Amino acid sequence: MRLSLRSAVKLTAFVVFILFANILLFAHYDELADAYRGKVGDSPSKVQVNNGGNQRPVEDGFKNIDFHRKQRSAKSIPEEVQKAVNAGGVTRNGVPDNRLLFKHRQHRRTELSDIFISVKTSKKYHESRVGVILKTWFTLVREQTYFFTDSEDKNFQDRTGGHMINTNCSSTHNRQALCCKMALEYDTFMDSNKRWFCHVDDDTYVNIPQLLKLLQGYNHTQDWYLGKPSLRHPIEIMDRDHPGQKLAYWFATGGAGFCISKGLALKMMPHASGGRLMTVGDKIRLPDDCTVGYIINYILKKDLTVIDGFHSHLEALWLIRSNDLLKQITFSYSQYSGKMNVVNVPGLSDQEDPTRFRSLHCYLFPTFRECKDISS
Ligand code: UDP
Ligand code: MN
Repeated sequence: MRLSLRSAVKLTAFVVFILFANILLFAHYDELADAYRGKVGDSPSKVQVNNGGNQRPVEDGFKNIDFHRKQRSAKSIPEEVQKAVNAGGVTRNGVPDNRLLFKHRQHRRTELSDIFISVKTSKKYHESRVGVILKTWFTLVREQTYFFTDSEDKNFQDRTGGHMINTNCSSTHNRQALCCKMALEYDTFMDSNKRWFCHVDDDTYVNIPQLLKLLQGYNHTQDWYLGKPSLRHPIEIMDRDHPGQKLAYWFATGGAGFCISKGLALKMMPHASGGRLMTVGDKIRLPDDCTVGYIINYILKKDLTVIDGFHSHLEALWLIRSNDLLKQITFSYSQYSGKMNVVNVPGLSDQEDPTRFRSLHCYLFPTFRECKDISS
């Protein structure tokens, strides 16, 4: 086939145009993906079920993106971003906008140093509960893990490398004391400049590599609330703004642990920052984890994504098969009327390791120095 000079010029111009269009499209990939996710996330409150380690990869939304959606100009000024953050992320027309908040975000993979882990504890549990955490999973995440307690403790302050925060909250198990600690956990995360806020109780073992793997599957600039409810249905409470009516929402059990993306945490600011989380807790008269769920799922209308790998002691922990242990994200332990509910893992004896956390740690990381002599 012979081409005239004119046709050759036309064809070249066409190819250059197509190339250019592709470059433009991929340069805006994240914004397009945000636009898509933004639409999905705005659906009415419900839970999304996530089966085991098969998280939905961030890129999944790509094929469904509405390419005709009008792109906003990328010229938002930094002051606007700052104002949005100060005002709790509320921007154009009063609508929170992740694309504004994260204009300067980095396009790199989430690393361990991007995760903030807060452990709620109390002075009575420093020795019995925090002790075993310090010997096990804390060794992998010393820099980014903080313990929120209710007293000064020089011994543990040293052992945690100065990562024990005395909240001055009351040392009781009532909802005010628990919300008081959670409010400070949230504020400390917001000051930390990290991508993810993960909360656990002090009777929790965190499988750090799996936690990282989980979070790498989600975009921290979008709105994610990852956890596991212990109820099979949404919690129903009295609607104090409409006497006589009820309202329902989902929440992730604090004892199983949960993670919140920075994008969502920013939107929580008007309801959670500076101690406001306690005010919300007082209004609904429920503990910290229920209050977090109320803010996210009821007020902000953001879904809870159910992660099966989070395990509280409200589950039968001994039923987790040893082949599946590696894939789980959190574990716990407890005692009900004399019977221990613990993970079934080989290693030390029950007397040496009643929580099974040391054996679990060595099962997951057999090459650790302190694991060399653990029999299996
Ligand atoms: N906790 C606390 N103050 C208390 C009792 C408990 O901060 O007076 C914390 C405790 O350290 C743990 C969480 O609350 O992180 C849950 O406590 P626990 O495991 O004893 O009870 P659960 O609610 O799991 O039955
Ligand atoms: Mn517990």
